[in-house]
Amino acid sequence: MQRVMKNDTVEVIAGNDQGKRGRVLQVVPESGKVLVEGVRYIWRHVRPSQKNPQGGRVQKEALLDASNVLVVCPSCDKGVKVSFQGEKAAKIRVCSKCGHEIRAQG
Ligand SMILES: [Zn+2]
Repeated sequence: MQRVMKNDTVEVIAGNDQGKRGRVLQVVPESGKVLVEGVRYIWRHVRPSQKNPQGGRVQKEALLDASNVLVVCPSCDKGVKVSFQGEKAAKIRVCSKCGHEIRAQG
């Protein structure tokens, strides 16, 4: 089980986007990276394609290191460290501050 999961709301704790919150669009477990909606935009040059016949520049989110984000606890309403409780299939994520269960969304 990952500390950060898709559709979690996370808070950025380092870098230019520190303090920003967003929804996790994608988790890349192999590299420990996450893609967060609305955070760390970069301009990407794209070639003309069927979907985008003009090509040009599009704004896109860039991958962030998962260690630079904290999952937002709905009870504390801030970025918190996640602890795990239970075993295997019954394992759940809980807020390390208040013990509130942090459920995976969608
Ligand atoms: Zn909490």
